Amino acid sequence: MKTIGHWINNKPAPGASGSYGPVYNPATGEQPTQVALASAAEVDAAVAAAKEAYRSWGTISLAKRTAILFKYRELLDAHRDEIAALITAEHGKVHSDALGEVARGLEIVELACGIPEKLKGELSTQVSTRVDVASIRQSLGVVAGITPFNFPAMVPMWMFPLAIACGNTFVLKPSEKDPSASYRLAELAAEAGLPDGVLNIVNGDKVAVDRILEHPDVAAVSFVGSTPIAQYIQTKAVAGGKRVQALGGAKNHMLVLPDADLDFAADNAINAAYGSAGERCMAVSVVVAVGETGDDLVKKIADRAARLKIGPGTDPASEMGPLITKAHRDKVASYVRSAAAQGAEVVVDGTGYTVDGHEDGFFLGVSLLDKVPTDADAYRDEIFGPVLCVVRADTYDEAIALINSSQWGNGTAIFTRDGGAARRFQLEVEAGMVGVNVPIPVPVGYHSFGGWKDSLFGDLHIYGNDGIAFYTRGKVITTRWPDPADSGGINLGFPSNHH
Ligand code: NAD
Repeated sequence: MKTIGHWINNKPAPGASGSYGPVYNPATGEQPTQVALASAAEVDAAVAAAKEAYRSWGTISLAKRTAILFKYRELLDAHRDEIAALITAEHGKVHSDALGEVARGLEIVELACGIPEKLKGELSTQVSTRVDVASIRQSLGVVAGITPFNFPAMVPMWMFPLAIACGNTFVLKPSEKDPSASYRLAELAAEAGLPDGVLNIVNGDKVAVDRILEHPDVAAVSFVGSTPIAQYIQTKAVAGGKRVQALGGAKNHMLVLPDADLDFAADNAINAAYGSAGERCMAVSVVVAVGETGDDLVKKIADRAARLKIGPGTDPASEMGPLITKAHRDKVASYVRSAAAQGAEVVVDGTGYTVDGHEDGFFLGVSLLDKVPTDADAYRDEIFGPVLCVVRADTYDEAIALINSSQWGNGTAIFTRDGGAARRFQLEVEAGMVGVNVPIPVPVGYHSFGGWKDSLFGDLHIYGNDGIAFYTRGKVITTRWPDPADSGGINLGFPSNHH
């Protein structure tokens, strides 16, 4: 069996705790790999390496930093297929989807390549006589990232490229369910010339996370994962005196107005609900059909759902792969059963689905639930699987009230041909990312990503300008070069600048 250890100071660091977690191939159900689970002492070793590296990386020239990032960008580009294959092997998503994840992660590396433009600062001359003021932003020191299983390459790339471009050093704690992709990202960073200790990986579980959160040398923590853990991370990191951004779960609603192109809406609902087996924080999990649209829309979605090809992610014919673990697959299936008992109509039932030759894989078919009561578990919980709920609303007002009553506010979308309605929706809806005829409105790398309510604990969104703000702190320098002829004299009054 293959063992994945840690990556510290640009070298493999075998696990020393004696504790390991299983890494499955979800398409076969086999466990070809185990991952080392770090002890607190191993986290300390990674933080110490990052702290030492910060002494030079924090002050290295922007030209040298960006030269490495440009080289890293080229290496990642050349290794897209290999990284995508690692993702598919441990996460299960189909290869084309994994390639999309790598491409979206690369956007942040490309943003990081342009960091000198973003770190230019501001200068005001002559704010008072012979007095200038400069605002600059400086790095924080050692920062940490804790990431979820569902984007094992992209979510780490939302964090470390910008953090290191800003002059910080980084400790990444990836998901223990699929650690190989991020490990490869770190190896390639070393190959690009990133100095020892600038990017380190500790694999592990709660033990490693808790040590990161209390470590006195960790200045900031970026987290992406489920809502209960995000909330825990924020509370504990703040208590530990750290800056924190903790992105949580979601239940994303897609509102379809009667004037929408229903074929277009149905295609998009299918793509956004069942892509990556619904294991995306920006997946559409609820369609709110307004007025007369419901029956036609449900029929169109059901017709398309029946034609989806489900199979191993390595098969180019597969459109949807397995779920991450057997336990998760069974939990997702339980929501389809409970929804039926709680009053929903099960239009398409994906439970009990098997793939020939892959009977032990963690496969589940797609499910479509109509007229789901809003107190049903399938509506209330984040299912994180290929289950799409349809809820009916008589009017736009009823639909938006429903969306805005959600615990979460990550992404949302409206499908309509009416510009006025779309404009109203984008202003009224309580969510951090809004799509107009775009079902998964994940912002491009140079805008920032983040939700509202229980989808984000913290103030700043991730990547883009918010990411740069998160990984830097402001400093304002007021300078006077007095004229030797002007002695100034004694004046105990508060300086007013009016001289
Ligand atoms: P998770 O919360 O179970 O795990 C995320 C990370 O936290 C992992 O590294 C894990 O090891 C660690 N962790 C888990 N339990 C912990 C505990 N008790 N104490 C300390 N650390 C712990 O999430 P997941 O199942 O890996 O990922 C799926 C979730 O992530 C979904 O809820 C999804 O919506 C969310 N997600 C959100 C976004 C976003 O941008 N908002 C993006 C991707 C995924």
